[in-house]
Amino acid sequence: MTSAGRFAPSPSGDLHVGNLRTAILAWLFARSTGRKFLLRVEDLDRARAGAEADQLRDLEAIGITWDGDVVRQTARGPYYADAISRLEAAGLTYECFCTRREIQEAPSAPHAPQGAYPGTCRRLGLAELEFKRSTRPASIRLRADVAQYTVRDLLHGTYTGVVDDLVLRRNDGVTAYNLAVVVDDAEQGIDQVVRGDDLLPSTPRQAFLAALLNIPSPEYAHVPLVVNADGVRLAKRDGAVTLRDLAAAGSPAAAVRNRLLESLGLPAGPLEKALGAFDASTLPLEPWVWRGV
Ligand code: GLU
Repeated sequence: MTSAGRFAPSPSGDLHVGNLRTAILAWLFARSTGRKFLLRVEDLDRARAGAEADQLRDLEAIGITWDGDVVRQTARGPYYADAISRLEAAGLTYECFCTRREIQEAPSAPHAPQGAYPGTCRRLGLAELEFKRSTRPASIRLRADVAQYTVRDLLHGTYTGVVDDLVLRRNDGVTAYNLAVVVDDAEQGIDQVVRGDDLLPSTPRQAFLAALLNIPSPEYAHVPLVVNADGVRLAKRDGAVTLRDLAAAGSPAAAVRNRLLESLGLPAGPLEKALGAFDASTLPLEPWVWRGV
């Protein structure tokens, strides 16, 4: 089995400097530890025509290289179906008919953490199940027997977060992100996951799922986000934040790459040069403020 890191963008639009900084970090973590670096397009949801090609072009423009072919989640349905079947066979799933609204309006279960699924469909009787099946398609949820789970993160140390009866397959048949990411990382030999720290709260759910599927958890590093001058996570509305817009504003891809490297305390120039100076233990842990061009 290979040892690999990865970048896994959702092709919903152009990458912005925050996404590009995370991609550089994922590349540096992987390459500095002798790992392969894989690119996976997470196109199960929110895919926009043309966005994937634009994202790959932008990654190349800042010097990101990857091994092998780009993998797309829409081509991997059988892997997800197999994992869900294994959980089903182990009695670890149930059908859920709740609408988003019903979940929001349901009283939360005692001691359940905020936002956790209240378990409405966990113990439906046969007649009720038959009736609900005739009303709307079911999603498949995990029957989680823990309320929290602890992971280790290279930058955050020990992190404990919520595990609830998360959705594995939505009621429109689309595999849920948390299941897909766990199955893909394992099947692709990815043993290092570097991504934005907005995803840290989802990580206990994913690590718990991996454990149920007998998959070893990867090494995690959740890296700080890029924020705007108000301290809010960078978004398209923050002006010129994509390579396309920055180039139009007079800042070509190499200049953007250099600025991102400098924000990490690394020398400007090709990524290979930064590799020699990269030390994960001295990474800044606070968000980086993007002040525009
Ligand atoms: N596709 C996710 C995103 O673009 C990232 C998932 C991951 O890195 O695990 O936010």
